[in-house]
Amino acid sequence: MLQSWLPVPPDSDFSIYNLPFGIFSDERPARAGVAIGEWVVDLTAAYALNLFPHYPEAGGAFRKPVLNDLIGLGREFSEYVRKTIQDALFDHDSVLHQYAGHLLIRQKDVQMHMPLKVGNYTDFYSSEEHAFSVGQIFRPDNPLFPNWKQMPVAYHGRASSIVASGTPVYRPQGQVGQASGNPAFVATRALDYELELAFVIGKDSTFGRPVPVGEAEDYIFGMLLFNDWSARDIQRWEYQPLGPFTSKNFASGISPWIVTWEALHPFRVPAPAQLPRPLPYLSIEPRLNFDLSLSVGIKPENGSEYEVCQTNAQHLYWTAAQQIAHHTITGCNLQTGDLLATGTISGRGISQKGCLLEATLNGRQSVKLGDGVERRFLEDNDEVVMRGFGQKEKIRVGFGELRGKVLPAIQG
Ligand code: MN
Repeated sequence: MLQSWLPVPPDSDFSIYNLPFGIFSDERPARAGVAIGEWVVDLTAAYALNLFPHYPEAGGAFRKPVLNDLIGLGREFSEYVRKTIQDALFDHDSVLHQYAGHLLIRQKDVQMHMPLKVGNYTDFYSSEEHAFSVGQIFRPDNPLFPNWKQMPVAYHGRASSIVASGTPVYRPQGQVGQASGNPAFVATRALDYELELAFVIGKDSTFGRPVPVGEAEDYIFGMLLFNDWSARDIQRWEYQPLGPFTSKNFASGISPWIVTWEALHPFRVPAPAQLPRPLPYLSIEPRLNFDLSLSVGIKPENGSEYEVCQTNAQHLYWTAAQQIAHHTITGCNLQTGDLLATGTISGRGISQKGCLLEATLNGRQSVKLGDGVERRFLEDNDEVVMRGFGQKEKIRVGFGELRGKVLPAIQG
């Protein structure tokens, strides 16, 4: 293996094979960067030193406070940027090495921002283990609806309240059902997280034209960790017949670095077999997922963080390509910067559940944290931390952390 002049610890998510894109600021305004180890490469400054001579038009895209324009220049462009930085990290004579003091900024000294202007966000329901165990809680005789194995089920979510890692979330208020038939107005007593991945759409599709499943992956720029915060008691009362609304529209968190599709390539693995076979517009071979380890920790106020879930993305029943083919089959168009989330990712075991609803069987049992602390749902000042990475031999590529702290409800 080649040695870089910039040492990166072997357990870093931001190895030389990753080089994800994000938006950061220091004393200067928000702009595009690439993460390497504990550092950010300032792309605007690197551009000014002519590190990217083949794309003279790129300077404007690097200076924007979101990555949409950069992504809009195409995967060919982002791959050129990553490859140029990767080569420079191995080359002792590179501009990046010569001017390292100017081009590399410590991540601990920068503020990370929302990396995208998200136009549209759709949340799928692609984990069979999750759909089955949630179904079992509410409909023991009929856990999976008959449509579930025929199409990637989803709802259109809310884009305006997608927030960057570190943004606190206020406990939402709303209506919950009661035995009397009249609803109560409460601050949710069943606040939950959902561990998900989200695909970042990298190019517009044409209005009126379905994206064929075989071309669908060309529309993906990269991936993020996604926390679909949920208020279960509000959700239970409101979700029929049209699906979740206020129980999920108050906030969704995303990790700050977008890991590119190419960087995730080493972790591709076959997706589970599908029976019954889906309709032709959803059929493709091979169907591929990603072998990515995912985890969730809860850190109570003044306590230490405790891991409550460890799972993997490789068992998702519906793949990204199938989600895109289904989303666009009507002619609905995708736009650069849209997010398509997988839905909660769970495994079979009780320690592999991607939300508290499943891990506590809807609050019937508790999850043990350290020091005798336990949770059925989240309490005020709990911080939820999500992590995810792929590891293949010495190649490690990860998302970093997605953090979000619960603050008390704002009475209004
Ligand atoms: Mn969800």
